[in-house]
Amino acid sequence: MTIVVDLPTPPRVLAIGAHADDIEFGCGATLAKWAAAGAHVTMCVCTDGSKGTWDGDADLAALIATRENEQRDAATLLGAADVVFLRYVDGELDSGPSATGAVCRVIREVRPDVVLGHDPWQPYRIHPDHYHAGLLVTAGIVAARDPHFFPEQGVAPHRPDTLLCFEPGRVDHVESVDGYVDHKINALLAHRSQWRSTMAIDARPDAERAAFAAKLYAEARAEGLRAGLRGAESFARIDDI
Ligand SMILES: [Zn+2]
Repeated sequence: MTIVVDLPTPPRVLAIGAHADDIEFGCGATLAKWAAAGAHVTMCVCTDGSKGTWDGDADLAALIATRENEQRDAATLLGAADVVFLRYVDGELDSGPSATGAVCRVIREVRPDVVLGHDPWQPYRIHPDHYHAGLLVTAGIVAARDPHFFPEQGVAPHRPDTLLCFEPGRVDHVESVDGYVDHKINALLAHRSQWRSTMAIDARPDAERAAFAAKLYAEARAEGLRAGLRGAESFARIDDI
């Protein structure tokens, strides 16, 4: 499959993820690059993150608040302008009409040129929130562009130009991220509550942080090899919107 390298910097960008930190894993370096070039970047997190701990006695209200604060810090490190929290219960996200309407409203209000989200067609993915968040992006775009979906919202329809699906089942587009992998790593490390469960940073934090960073650099190099780049993030690209 032919792989296209780099969109022109979009003026307005909306990235939608199931959980706090998903967007950074999927496209954090791309967002940092575009923000540095002047794009207005909005991040939208669908769930409240309330399953994101291995501590069975955790105070979940406190965890939700902590994760939102971490997400705002991560957004700042990427240069994003805004974070929208939809606050659906973690692990129970669906892609029915109510959640589709919520994502449609965000798309209509943000008016992005490019939308980024989970690839809903990535095979053998077991977390249902990632699957549903991907479907919410595609269903939300379809609804946002046509006036007879959710007219009660009272917000003008909006049709983005391009959807980039991150962690894709097939790759036909890459963004060069040389110089922006550090932004991605630092934004991910802002999710301090996820160090142990998601990033394997626990008993030996200095060494394990370094190992985590090395893994992300290796991933960026591997994706870059697809197109002769020093570092990249990969996507399935949809322009037929
Ligand atoms: Zn996730």
